[in-house]
Amino acid sequence: MAVNHEGATAPLFKQLIMAWDIYGNTLQRGHCEVHPWVHDPYPCCLCYSDSERHEQADRQRQEYNEAIERDYYKAEREEFCNKNYFRYRMINKLLRVLASVSIRLEQIKNRYEDRLPI
Ligand SMILES: [Zn+2]
Repeated sequence: MAVNHEGATAPLFKQLIMAWDIYGNTLQRGHCEVHPWVHDPYPCCLCYSDSERHEQADRQRQEYNEAIERDYYKAEREEFCNKNYFRYRMINKLLRVLASVSIRLEQIKNRYEDRLPI
């Protein structure tokens, strides 16, 4: 980084009215503090393009992370389904049997309700 010797030796009033860029060098009037070679006050056109580039990179990174996350959970879900396929098929069949038994019991109860002792 360049060191500004002029600023250090300049009288206080001159230091107060002088502007500095982010590298510690004197800044010419009307130039960007971040891009001192650009004759455009801060934020200059380069600042805007940098910011846009950063935002675009952030968006791409976020999309990439979301895709990775989506793939991860999809793979996990598929693995879970494959691992538990037989178990859930059996549970499903068992529930169907229980439901049909329950319906049958309800029918039997309705048929013999009158004959049951109170
Ligand atoms: Zn700039």
